[in-house]
Amino acid sequence: MHTARTSSNRAWLSLRARNGLILLVVAGMMSIFGYMLIELRRDAWEEAAVASDNVMAALGRDFQRQIDMIDRVLDLLQTSDFSALSQSHAVLLENLPSIAGRMLILDSSGAVVDQSSSGPSSRTSYSDQDFFIRLSRSRALVTYISEPFVDPATQNTVIAVARRLNKADGRFVGVAVGLLYVTYLVDEMETVRLGPNQAIALLRSDGAVLARFPQTERAGRETIANSGVFRHFATAEPGLFIGRGIIDGNPRAYNFMRFQNLPLILAVGMSLEDIYADWYKTTFLLGGLFLVLNAVLGFVGFRLIRELALRRESEERYRQLSNIDGLTGLSNRRRFDEALTQEWRRARRTRKPLSLLIMDLDRFKGFNDLYGHLAGDECLRRVAAVTAGTLGRGSDLVARYGGEEIVVLLPDTDRTGGRTAAERIRTAIETLRIEHQANIGYGVVTVSIGHATYDPSENPDEARSEELVATTDAALYDAKRAGRNSVVTRRLCADPDEVNLLDEKKRLASVEQARNAVNDTAIFDAIAEIAARILGTSSAMVSLLDDQEQTFIGSSGLDALGVTADRIPRAISFCRYAIQGRAVMVVGDASQDVRFSNNPVVAGAPHIRFYAGAPLIVSSDGHAIGTIAVVDEVARPEISEMHRRLLVELATVVMNHLEKDGSGSRRDAMAPAADEEKAPLYRLSLA
Ligand code: GH3
Ligand code: MG
Ligand code: MG
Repeated sequence: MHTARTSSNRAWLSLRARNGLILLVVAGMMSIFGYMLIELRRDAWEEAAVASDNVMAALGRDFQRQIDMIDRVLDLLQTSDFSALSQSHAVLLENLPSIAGRMLILDSSGAVVDQSSSGPSSRTSYSDQDFFIRLSRSRALVTYISEPFVDPATQNTVIAVARRLNKADGRFVGVAVGLLYVTYLVDEMETVRLGPNQAIALLRSDGAVLARFPQTERAGRETIANSGVFRHFATAEPGLFIGRGIIDGNPRAYNFMRFQNLPLILAVGMSLEDIYADWYKTTFLLGGLFLVLNAVLGFVGFRLIRELALRRESEERYRQLSNIDGLTGLSNRRRFDEALTQEWRRARRTRKPLSLLIMDLDRFKGFNDLYGHLAGDECLRRVAAVTAGTLGRGSDLVARYGGEEIVVLLPDTDRTGGRTAAERIRTAIETLRIEHQANIGYGVVTVSIGHATYDPSENPDEARSEELVATTDAALYDAKRAGRNSVVTRRLCADPDEVNLLDEKKRLASVEQARNAVNDTAIFDAIAEIAARILGTSSAMVSLLDDQEQTFIGSSGLDALGVTADRIPRAISFCRYAIQGRAVMVVGDASQDVRFSNNPVVAGAPHIRFYAGAPLIVSSDGHAIGTIAVVDEVARPEISEMHRRLLVELATVVMNHLEKDGSGSRRDAMAPAADEEKAPLYRLSLA
């Protein structure tokens, strides 16, 4: 059941959706950013791997070449005949291509027999050097690489690349050795290394350090055989990895390679800070930018959304307020008009019936007179609440139509359903038992309800919502006429004053009888003039209404309206509505009333705005045969009670004259003369 409550759920949902969207965008951006950083970090790592691979490749090639050159000479020497160490070896040694060191041939006592030209000529003994001792004891003819030692002849730190020399019978004759300068190796390392924090080492496969850069202060033999990093060098696949620093234990990145056919390992150590220096910078910069961006986006977004939400909320509140009737809390007339248009379209589109009820409190004027206007207001509120409470569906709309009239719009409700709802409302209000002594016959507050249903399956497609309202309104007047506290259902038809034909026949007979009773129009002109004077309008008329025309039997000031005829077609008559009630019908502004807004006397010239008419009621059968009405081209609000009563009184005066003179004497002036050409019955200047 919706009266004034308008749901704002949809707005709230879309608000949440928008919040979600912003969060999603921020989260998405964060993911992209995170992914980007991970990628950049991986790039930095791979770059470091490639760079250190290059350093090792360059050094490895160089060192391998040095050792290979020595090894080739050792090969030649080893295959020579060493029955006697001869001078010919000197030639061999002198023909050596340049190596970063010198070559010696030692005899079985470790004394230098021969040496390459690059060495000093002093005869030094190498008998106590590790390489000599080992080779003299081992029978294997393989190349031995020593740890660094100080060459006694030159005082250079060197490593020996040496082989045992045998006689033909296999007895030891001496050692051939290449002494490689460690400074050469270290200088090479320094040349190729990248960055100040990079460390390079040439290791023997047992963990002995042969050369390293930067060099340590420590003199003598050095081994890293016990470090975790070395165990990795010895066992794992070559490549960049993170290990604990050999000296300080801090995490560092290491890369390494093994030599082909030589028990040597080349290793490079790098600080992680160096590897990621650029990445840190990028992260910092991008991160800052990203945070600022997100903060701005989030701030602006959420502000915007809150702003929108507040605006929508206040708009919604305002809209609701402007759709609510202040007294009853029901929807107001404006809201009803909107809803009617919408529901009418929907009904036509969906081929579903639409029911309308118009209800009016019975003798409510009397209630106000008796109990006061405040009590009247309170009564209206209770009736409104009960009406709204009686209906169950969310799509039902209850609105205050005006004064003490309430409309109920029931979408998707057929004639039977509409009738049931109306009956339920009528009963509910009667059951309230609000005392109303002026409501003759009931003693409590009651309502009369008019009901009509638009049913697309039986009504023509061109039916208009105005017809539904007019028919329902006519049904309400029927209910009043039927004695009040009742529901009357009318079939929707284009002409709402189409009434029970039998009844209409009787009424037309009464009209005819009254017309025949008219013998002196002057009296009706006078009554009309009185009416116009009293109500302060430009014009007034006393009319009879038959099935074709509204005939003026008395009038005042019609000229002022530009009306020269004494009759108008029933189709454009206000009278046909006024005769449906027993009280005065007041139309404050006809241009705003769906029943008249398209009427040529409203839309054209004369443009009648205000109308107040009292029905002329036949005392014997209660039929209304016509009206006494005042009209004006200026709209005006509700007329006073006194004016209503006076109009009703004047109607009674008219009826007294018509019924008193109802002897059949025909008023000659009204009867067209036989020889007279039938004059145009009405002539309205329609703009
Ligand atoms: P009927 O049974 O024919 O409807 O008689 P009625 O007296 O109710 O006649 P009508 O519907 O024409 O009268 C409307 C009266 O309702 C006029 C006024 O006294 C009263 N009324 C209209 N609006 C309000 C309102 O907002 N508050 C109060 N207290 N009374 C109202
Ligand atoms: Mg009313
Ligand atoms: Mg009423």
